[in-house]
Amino acid sequence: MLRIGEFEVTSIVNGTIRLDGGAMFGVVPKVLWGNVTDVDAENRILLATRSLLIVHRGQQRVMLVDTGCGTKWTPEKAARFAIESDAGAIPKALSSAGLSESDVTDVVISHLHFDHNGGLTDWVDDPDGPTELHFPHAKHWVHRGHWEHAHDPHIKDRASFLPEDFTALEHAGVLEIVDGDAPEPPFEGVEWLVTHGHTPYQLHPIIGDKGDSRLLFVGDIVPTVLHLRLGWVMAYDMRPQQTIAEKKMIYRHCLEDGLMLAFPHDPSIGGVVLDGSPSRPIVSRSLDI
Ligand SMILES: [Zn+2]
Repeated sequence: MLRIGEFEVTSIVNGTIRLDGGAMFGVVPKVLWGNVTDVDAENRILLATRSLLIVHRGQQRVMLVDTGCGTKWTPEKAARFAIESDAGAIPKALSSAGLSESDVTDVVISHLHFDHNGGLTDWVDDPDGPTELHFPHAKHWVHRGHWEHAHDPHIKDRASFLPEDFTALEHAGVLEIVDGDAPEPPFEGVEWLVTHGHTPYQLHPIIGDKGDSRLLFVGDIVPTVLHLRLGWVMAYDMRPQQTIAEKKMIYRHCLEDGLMLAFPHDPSIGGVVLDGSPSRPIVSRSLDI
């Protein structure tokens, strides 16, 4: 657990997934990435799926950023990506903080790719039947531009969106839609960053008051520590050149303002403090998160 002012922040590994290494590293050749990550016989690399738990006891806010792949996977579908969901991971982390799932006040949807927010809903009964919200009483924060994109995706990324993950949200009365490129903060000590390189209107919380060393959930702009290199950009990205520009902008904040990064997919590192330069960042230390 990492303390930032009054905030208690924990990175939770809620499962693992294997995605094609070539897709994960874009134009970077396998002779480079194949030596530095775990590759299976299907050319897939091991990734964690992580949630970020943010607790502010004074403000009585319990915020969960992303919910992982969730439980709506038949064995056949799970096998394609070697998905292993740990349904007990989020309850366990909450319990360590003296909390339970019913105490979650806010769910942040960085974006609606299934490996980030399949856990928003569960099957009510049978597979492929109706779904219900996993956190029915929490506010669910999502960017309007991303919500619209998820309902009308491009052919390039439509396989990443599963409507059963989010249609139950439409009439549940729990959506908190944020607008524009500089949205209003949701509450004191949390601000939003909006990016477009990976997917339109990805929503990233920045945790901490001005003056603190703040923490950015960097989402799929920098999915793992290996993606810190500017040119190591996923083939999944809608606008790879914009991802590179957004990485550089983020690194500048890391180096000038002490901004720390929390990753969504690194199998072993929850977050880092950076050193180096915006063009060649290096890890100064890993966060105990
Ligand atoms: Zn994504």
